[in-house]
Amino acid sequence: MSLASLLDRLRGRPIEHDLSAYREVLARVCALEPALEPLDDAGLTARARALRARVADGTDVAAQLPEAFALAREVARRALGQRPFDEQVLAGVALAQGKIAEMATGEGKTLAAVAPVFLQALAGRGAHVLTFNDYLARRDAAWMGPVYERLGLSVGFVQERMSAPERQRAYAADVTYLTAKEAGFDHLRDALALEPADRAQREYHFALVDEADSILIDEARIPLVIAGETGEAIAGPERLAALVRDLVPGCDFDTDEHAHNIALTEAGTVRIEAALGRGGLHALENVSLHAQLRHALHAEHLLRRDVDYIVRGGRVELVDESTGRVADKRHWPDGLHAAVEAKEGLRLTSEGRILGQVTLQHFLRLYPRLAGMTATAHTAAEELEAFYGLRTVVIPTHRPMIRADEPDVVFTHPSAKRAALVAEIARVHAAGRPVLVGTASVGESEELAAALVAAGVAGQVLNARNDEREAAIVAGAGAPGAVTISTNMAGRGTDIRLGGADESHREEVAALGGLYVIGTNRHASLRIDQQLRGRAGRQGDPGSSRFFVSLEDPLIRRYGVEELVSARHLPARQDAPVESRLLRAEIARAQRIVEDEGFQLRTTLYGYSDIVEKQRRAIQRWRSATLERREPQPFLAERSGGRYQELLPIVGQATLDAVERRLTLLAIDRCWSDHLAELREMREDSVLLAFAGRFPLAEFHHQAGESFQALEDRIEDEVVRDFERIEITPDGVDWEREGLRGPSATWTYLVGENPFGASGLMSPAGRTGMVAAAVGVPWLVLLQGLGVFWARRKKPGRFTRSNRPSS
Ligand code: ADP
Ligand code: MG
Repeated sequence: MSLASLLDRLRGRPIEHDLSAYREVLARVCALEPALEPLDDAGLTARARALRARVADGTDVAAQLPEAFALAREVARRALGQRPFDEQVLAGVALAQGKIAEMATGEGKTLAAVAPVFLQALAGRGAHVLTFNDYLARRDAAWMGPVYERLGLSVGFVQERMSAPERQRAYAADVTYLTAKEAGFDHLRDALALEPADRAQREYHFALVDEADSILIDEARIPLVIAGETGEAIAGPERLAALVRDLVPGCDFDTDEHAHNIALTEAGTVRIEAALGRGGLHALENVSLHAQLRHALHAEHLLRRDVDYIVRGGRVELVDESTGRVADKRHWPDGLHAAVEAKEGLRLTSEGRILGQVTLQHFLRLYPRLAGMTATAHTAAEELEAFYGLRTVVIPTHRPMIRADEPDVVFTHPSAKRAALVAEIARVHAAGRPVLVGTASVGESEELAAALVAAGVAGQVLNARNDEREAAIVAGAGAPGAVTISTNMAGRGTDIRLGGADESHREEVAALGGLYVIGTNRHASLRIDQQLRGRAGRQGDPGSSRFFVSLEDPLIRRYGVEELVSARHLPARQDAPVESRLLRAEIARAQRIVEDEGFQLRTTLYGYSDIVEKQRRAIQRWRSATLERREPQPFLAERSGGRYQELLPIVGQATLDAVERRLTLLAIDRCWSDHLAELREMREDSVLLAFAGRFPLAEFHHQAGESFQALEDRIEDEVVRDFERIEITPDGVDWEREGLRGPSATWTYLVGENPFGASGLMSPAGRTGMVAAAVGVPWLVLLQGLGVFWARRKKPGRFTRSNRPSS
């Protein structure tokens, strides 16, 4: 047993190091290959089709694994000129069995995925490969397409801008490459379809997630949202933005040491109340004004331009905390986004009315078969098992890894670190060795680039989002003398070849030591550091990596150095690096603590989103049954009485059924949207309950459950009400004229974390003090108001009767 596997076992990590079972399967694959080599291409395709026919006849898919893998290997060898290495076959076996395969960067995960995807697609129910971005979906579908085609499978891919018919075609293919986000957005769109034929996706069968840790963990809790127009203008944020701009820190307001929360002081409250002239901020009628004010304060004094967000093309674009990159299509929730737009003097965009939402995590769990691959699964293995039931298998590299991971260089303060970084990059660059620098924020990457230019080194800066151009720049990062400065994880999925994309100067660069990766910060997760290091040393290439840190970096400040090391060991401010193993060990410890906090927070947030998801699924079951005319108990005849019986002989049963069906679908969608809005308020307000010594999550569950019970009645009431008022003829209903149609326009986006929300959700004890100050509402008053609002009669309903989600 290796040391690594012993340690994992001691820690109870769900990681498989013992590959003997996989090697047995590999041997069977190898044994089948010689018989395939003499076949011509048509012969191979015929064998693949025969395999598919056997599966259609009910032969167990798993039993076909060795032959499917042998075929895929032989076809790949011919179609791409690349015979999958044994390690790629081992990874494929793990993937076929629904595991997470950890495979180092550059080992060829794209190709390793083909055999398991082929095997799962044999069932004829579709297989999805979920890529890191749109560019990779297109690239990988085109790259692996010839292999699938010779195996008798059709291949499609989805892109953000595709039309509905194009998407339908892509999903109809045997294998579909797309991002998890697009798959999730299509799921939400399908959930609003008024006819079965309008849906794009088929029932889910198998998904293989590339860059699995990023999608399954880092992005997992982000809600995907579909919204429709409301026509409501947003007013007010501009005025509030102007008001809070003049407030003086320390006098009018205070922030906590982590700059996560902000609260008005007594003086500030008086000042604002006087300016607004709307009475006491804490008065019940000012609840929503007060919420807007909180957002304005937060936007003005806590969110930082070029760190938390950038302004581009007249829009606010969020910067993702974990990647330091602009997050595509992401909004802050609940008015915070408008507050930031007001702060920047931009035109306010409407958030729209949220029609549906699902977290990426819940969406991915809809696939009955899930597998994943990434270079960094190891340290996340427990989380992958806990949330998805996925076990991690560590696949050895094809050639030994010879990258040198140097110990961190530690500085006492940032300017010393910056000077050392510039000197080091200039020195290495002068020798012609390529350098890839990973920074933590957009602002930092630009400052560093400017400092380098001042030192006579011109580098490529990567921080805007343009996957394709970015991939091209990153691919060239291994060219002689290249200096590439990126926010971290830029170009995930791109292959950095030594000596440039065409490897024309490979020997020269290899002789200099290969690619040199420098990290300018340790990140909140060790996985992200490892991803960065992994850009060097691909497929046995030479390379090295090193992190430069300062004791004033955000990760360490979050703790306070004093908490980590006693004052006795704390070095005095100095320009030279600090030589201290103790400090390095403590920095690593700080990272582990932050990582663990992240895990805790995700678990808590999961508690909130899980109940919403259970409700969503119950509603969706009802809706699909209605859409597909499977609804067992139409209720209109019973509830409406007179009008129904009158109309029956005139318009006929079929018309009435169609009307009931459409009214029900529309009512479900409207009421669900209202329910979502209510849940959002409850979630924000449940934080306040913490001060009453109650556990916010439990309270949220309780209230969300009550509100949900009332939902069925509300939906049925609306159907009856609409039915009574509309004109119904034997031709049916003029839905346009009656104003009963689905949303005429919808759009999709991701909800960024609400910094307010997240900070208060943890536990009643932990951070409540600060949240209390931040919210500043006398909670008793507010709770009474909410209590009345939420009090709902309890009676058994549709969800109690048949398909109430278990909680
Ligand atoms: P990963 O996703 O694991 O980082 P990629 O799938 O991008 O790696 O592949 C990295 C490189 O390895 C590509 O240039 C690919 O052509 C090459 N490669 C993959 N498998 C093989 C193979 N069996 N033989 C030769 N080259 C391969
Ligand atoms: Mg890849």
